Amino acid sequence: MPPVFRFAPSPNGHLHLGHAYSALLNFYRARETGGRLLLRIEDIDTTRCRPEFEAAIYEDLAWLGTSWEIPVRRQSEHLADYRAALDKLSALGLVYPAFESRAEIARLVSAREADGPWPRDPDGAPLYPGECKSLPGDARARLIASGVPYALRLDMAAACQRVAGLTWRELGEEQGGEGGIVPARPQAWGDVILARKETPTSYHLSVVVDDALQGVSEIVRGQDLFHATAVHRLLQVLLGLPEPAYRHHRLICDGEGRKLSKSSRSTGLRELRAGGASPASIRALVGLG
Ligand code: GLU
Repeated sequence: MPPVFRFAPSPNGHLHLGHAYSALLNFYRARETGGRLLLRIEDIDTTRCRPEFEAAIYEDLAWLGTSWEIPVRRQSEHLADYRAALDKLSALGLVYPAFESRAEIARLVSAREADGPWPRDPDGAPLYPGECKSLPGDARARLIASGVPYALRLDMAAACQRVAGLTWRELGEEQGGEGGIVPARPQAWGDVILARKETPTSYHLSVVVDDALQGVSEIVRGQDLFHATAVHRLLQVLLGLPEPAYRHHRLICDGEGRKLSKSSRSTGLRELRAGGASPASIRALVGLG
C-alpha cells in the first residue's frame, strides 16, 4: 500500500511561508515514496472560516507547484462522522457536558490562582478548572433541559486509565528523521473539549477521525502540534483507529524568532507573490531550494 500524506489547512486566513513549507514537505514526501497526497480543509470553526480563504488556498497551493487528490475533504461536510466518534466515547463513559462560559472559566482560573499557580497545558492555556464532571445526573439533565449551552469534554483521568503505555512513532527532525518512540502524556492537556458549544466537534476529534477515514499513514505537520499528538494517540486508541507515524517539522519563524501568523502580511504567500516572488524563490526561502 502506498503511504498516504495530507496537508490540512484551516481557511481562516491566507497561507504564509510556514504553510508553504509544510505543504511542500508533504508533497515531496509523497513524491519520494510513491505515496498519495490528500488535501483537507479544516473548516469546522464557522465563525472564522471563509469561502474566499478556501479558494485562495487552492490557488496558492497550485501556484506553489503542489498537486493533490480530488475530491478534497471539507470537515464541515462530515459532522455525522464526528458525531459517531463522540457517541462511541460517550458509550465508554468518557464524555461529560460542561456548562461554563469562557468568562466563568476565566473567573474560576483566577480564583484558583489566588491559592498558587494553576496548571497550564503545553500551549500555555490553563487546564479546565470546572466541576461539571461531578455534577449529579439530575442537575445535569435540568441544565440541558433548560437550554443552557454546553461543550462536551473528555474525562481525561478515566480515559488514561483505559490506556497504558501510550506512545507514538515520531520521524521528525529531533529524532534524527529516522524514527523514535515518544511517550505520550495526554494528561498534560486536562479534560480537553471534544465538541464545542457552537460546533458539534473539535480540532482534536475531527483530525483523528479524518486521518483514520482517509487512511493517512504519515502525518507531516509543524512542531507546534507535537504535544497535541498525545491527545490524538489517546483518541485513536479509545476509538480503535489505526496508528499513523508522525513527522513534526521545524517552524518557519520571522526575524525575531516568532512563529508566523496568518495576520502577518510580510510573510503571506499572496503578498510575496504580489511583490514578485516566484515559486522557486519561496522554496529557497523555506530552505527547500
Ligand atoms: N488545521 C491545522 C492548522 O491549520 C493543522 C492540523 C494538523 O495538521 O493536524 O494548523
